[in-house]
Amino acid sequence: MAEKRDYYEVLGVEKGASKDDIKKAYRKLAMKYHPDRNPGDKEAEEKFKEAAEAYEVLSDDQKRARYDQFGHAGMQGGGAGGFNMDIEDIFSNFGDIFGGFGFGGFSGSRGGSRQRVNKGSNLRIKVKLTLKEIAEGAEKKLKVKKYCSCQACSGTGAQGGKGGTETCPTCHGSGVITQVRNTMLGQMRSTSPCPNCGGTGTVIKNKCTSCAGTGIVQGEEVITINIPAGVTDGMSMTVSGKGNAARNGGVNGDLIVVFEEEPDPLLTREDNNLIYKLNISVPDAILGTTAEIPTISGKVKFKVEAGTQPGSILRLKGKGLPTYGEYGRGDLLVLVNVWIPNSKNLSRSEVKCIEDLQKSENFGAKTTDTSSKNSGSIFDRLFGKD
Ligand SMILES: [Zn+2]
Ligand SMILES: [Zn+2]
Repeated sequence: MAEKRDYYEVLGVEKGASKDDIKKAYRKLAMKYHPDRNPGDKEAEEKFKEAAEAYEVLSDDQKRARYDQFGHAGMQGGGAGGFNMDIEDIFSNFGDIFGGFGFGGFSGSRGGSRQRVNKGSNLRIKVKLTLKEIAEGAEKKLKVKKYCSCQACSGTGAQGGKGGTETCPTCHGSGVITQVRNTMLGQMRSTSPCPNCGGTGTVIKNKCTSCAGTGIVQGEEVITINIPAGVTDGMSMTVSGKGNAARNGGVNGDLIVVFEEEPDPLLTREDNNLIYKLNISVPDAILGTTAEIPTISGKVKFKVEAGTQPGSILRLKGKGLPTYGEYGRGDLLVLVNVWIPNSKNLSRSEVKCIEDLQKSENFGAKTTDTSSKNSGSIFDRLFGKD
């Protein structure tokens, strides 16, 4: 086996990196080398495991301190011992660091047929995001109403957490009930899970009074999720194990968070571009001006050239939104409109002034210059090459 790489090097972080940076770095690698994204790719799988191993050590203060002092040698034996994590361990240990993001199918395919375990139901909640949160990513604390494991019986459903189980009297331990019906074709047999024990074949002898033997109670949990930048309306993220608790100590369901984009009063989103409609006055269009343009990261000053026509589109490169899972950002497109006042609302002297301009040859309308960037359809100009 090749020599082990330095854990900081594996994650691509500085030695003094903060916990948050370590988490971010790991998350990025885990997404990149995720087995769902690289099916059958052994090298990606190794990288995935290597990153998980580095993260296991560097995310734990004690292990990290020992590693800093003794290097890989400090990691052998003792509590940290044997990094033979397989993919499933990685998911059960740090599955929620990337919350199954975009890999909804993976958690469902794990475990599978091996044994019958109660599984809590999945929960689905909506989260509103502003454009700024979409642009920068956001940490959200969600208060989720759900079934939680009963504390009085530690989710077992048995009074005081002990007392044990007995064979279900309804199905006599088989977990299924068989019904026999007489039909014209003879006897028909059908089996279904036993309703008394939910198919487990055992029932609790001494039921917990707090949860009536179910092992779950209605409650609330505050769940913190990290939403990556560049998500879109309707996209969802699965946080495994944060859904409803299962009856009698089974596996928790998942929490599915669906993103909802809040409309912005000033900026309109079009894929990863943003559009801002800028109104300028007639004199400003003629003489040129400096306009203030709202962007995700605050206002910027922007020069509007003398003679700017209404309908011109000015482009602020890179001031748009990122796209989830991709590099780069879109642009902010400034759609210029020239505001024309109605003569009814002008003073006598203002009207006089305009009347003088009306006579001036320089103010006569010219045919639109078809060679300029202002030709073509609005759509082509907004989303065409440049
Ligand atoms: Zn209980
Ligand atoms: Zn039963």
